[in-house]
Amino acid sequence: MAFDSLSEKLQNVFKNLRGKGRLTEADVKAALKEVKLALLEADVSFKVVKQFIKAVEARAVGTDVMESLTPGQMVIKIVNEEMVNLMGSETTEIKLRPSNEITVIMMTGLQGAGKTTTAAKLAGKFKIKGRKVLLTACDVYRPAAIKQLQVNGEKQGVEVFSMGDQHKPVDIAKAAMEHAKKQGMSVVILDTAGRLHIDEAMMEELQEIKANVHVDYSILVVDSMTGQDAVNVATTFSEKVGIDGVILTKLDGDTRGGAALSIRAVTGKPILYVGMGEKLSDLEQFYPDRMASRILG
Ligand code: GDP
Repeated sequence: MAFDSLSEKLQNVFKNLRGKGRLTEADVKAALKEVKLALLEADVSFKVVKQFIKAVEARAVGTDVMESLTPGQMVIKIVNEEMVNLMGSETTEIKLRPSNEITVIMMTGLQGAGKTTTAAKLAGKFKIKGRKVLLTACDVYRPAAIKQLQVNGEKQGVEVFSMGDQHKPVDIAKAAMEHAKKQGMSVVILDTAGRLHIDEAMMEELQEIKANVHVDYSILVVDSMTGQDAVNVATTFSEKVGIDGVILTKLDGDTRGGAALSIRAVTGKPILYVGMGEKLSDLEQFYPDRMASRILG
């Protein structure tokens, strides 16, 4: 299970806290120091850890907590609440336009992050809601990506629009919009091209699509296993292209949890969904409170 080592460390800290009848300020500070170390080891961004500990300490060190009947429990409750806050408090959903209009979703991210897979996963979610979805292959640099989208689209029973790899992504996106209008479709998902690293040409390509097609949601797909790198990627995309939300993939293999805990606080953008496996059904809505419970045990 994801976050095992972070969970284990935090549970140990909590066990010590619970075991004490009374708590002194020094006890709480010592416990928070352990929490801090556990978060840093989990690859949570240093700035985020500092802010988090400060927020917890401001609420946990004080007579209200210390003199309560169960001070240990109170501190644990505060850690839990602040962790939920860190991840955005509430679930953010993708709001689709009414079915007689087209909602455009642009998938962005580095190569290998899971864009193509996630595009198909999302298409399935909207199809279940009764929407006519068009998956669009704008990744013209990785020929396998077009094929992959076609295969996944077929599995989901969703049409895939492709013009091969000889056209500009922006032209493919525009043509897909025309097609979707003619066919009375209500969701267009654009699978764009990633690169191995942040790259100017990629950013320009995405900006160009945004300038020519009314994109309702730019979604950044990041690999949670890359930890703070994922957070840095999110910051750059947020600045250069503008993003409306993040999907964290490969959480099933993420043993540390740093990206999940940092990305919202660093970018201010919500985590919309999490990828929990390679199968097309492995995409879950992101609930900050459930995630905090999973981490804190
Ligand atoms: P793209 O280059 O961003 O389009 O990435 P792909 O969609 O091709 O995904 C890269 C690899 O990651 C593929 O092998 C996917 O099956 C895998 N993948 C994507 N999402 C997940 C996930 O949530 N969990 C796991 N375990 N693998 C994933």
